[in-house]
Amino acid sequence: MTQITRPFLPFVKPEIDEETIQGVIDVLRSGWITTGPQNQQFEAELSAYVGGRPVRAFNSGTCTMEIGLRIAGVGPGDEVITTPMTWVSTANVILEVGATPVFVDIDPVTRNIDLNLLERAITPRTKAIMPVYLAGLPVDMDRLYDIARAHKLRVIEDAAQAFGSSWRGKRIGAIGDIVSFSFHANKNVTSIEGGALVLNNEDEAELARKYRLQGITRTGFDGMDCDVLGGKYNLTDVAARVGLGQLRQIERFTEKRRELARAYFDAFEGGAAVRLGAGLPTPNFTDSNWHMFQIALPLERLRLTRAEFMSEMKDRGIGTGLHYPALHLFTLYRARGFKEGMFPHAERYGASTVTLPLFTLMSTDDVEHVVKSVDEIFEQFGGDQKENG
Ligand SMILES: *Cc1c(COP(=O)(O)O)cnc(C)c1O
Repeated sequence: MTQITRPFLPFVKPEIDEETIQGVIDVLRSGWITTGPQNQQFEAELSAYVGGRPVRAFNSGTCTMEIGLRIAGVGPGDEVITTPMTWVSTANVILEVGATPVFVDIDPVTRNIDLNLLERAITPRTKAIMPVYLAGLPVDMDRLYDIARAHKLRVIEDAAQAFGSSWRGKRIGAIGDIVSFSFHANKNVTSIEGGALVLNNEDEAELARKYRLQGITRTGFDGMDCDVLGGKYNLTDVAARVGLGQLRQIERFTEKRRELARAYFDAFEGGAAVRLGAGLPTPNFTDSNWHMFQIALPLERLRLTRAEFMSEMKDRGIGTGLHYPALHLFTLYRARGFKEGMFPHAERYGASTVTLPLFTLMSTDDVEHVVKSVDEIFEQFGGDQKENG
């Protein structure tokens, strides 16, 4: 094997520019470090980005979904339909508000909730749908909202991974019902930790503000009341300033990610990985923000496990991620009666998926190095069945 001289390539790494770092220093020196003017500015610029819809910022993209459900009136006795192929918080928040998660299997091509199966899961108790745009690829939004309208269901979009994505020329967040974004450190736009809710009107935005901080409303110099049970979900101004610096670069970030994704498809072409049948993602370069580049390993044709594949990649100086094991097989959900065989596509994908490096500080040369390494491993550990390539 050739000597590795390149630095370790992680699967994700945030790009924080000097202007943002300086801005954070200014906030720290300003004397106002928690929720204040930067938060307000962040909300204003986020709102402008989603076509003027009301936006409230929060300290995670998890509490946003929980609050979105509360605003939609979802609670005990209600069912919420979602996908088992997501970060576990999507389903956890449904439990958190006392409702029941109902899973629908994924479409094996898009890896998102299968809209062809969705209607069958609707019951008289169904109150809302929580679609997830895995890796930034939206579902068919026209179809989703046709179904929601026909059955009078609310939609709380888990668009945690889809900031910068669009549907037929319209930005995710600029359309739809309640939309939740995450600004976690690994997301396309980060505020270190953080999130935002896009709402339908000022009443919902006001409710979101209350849920964010103990349900408190202040009036005049000394007036204070609490009329809903809120929590502690406010975003610091230090974090908001990071988010502002990131938001202002969203177009460049998305462009760069699409370029890297294209480079992945080019590099994979004709190689061992494709010959052996690694599942490549949907090659969408108009709607997806390419939050991640995920392959599904053809484990039945390889003489190594996924963990061994990840270890081989690490030995070649490359970090990989896992997004996600099918969540209905986690202990918490098994205890609620979910088991193997219920959502075969999600289970199969969840057992074989690996996330390859994709972040704005990478080069197309890095992409080629990743794919060359995948090909090497596939050549070395490929089974001996006579597949035509
Ligand atoms: C990141 C993420 C979340 C949660 O966001 P946090 O900000 O980490 O709470 C929810 N759903 C999906 C699909 C995510 O990728």
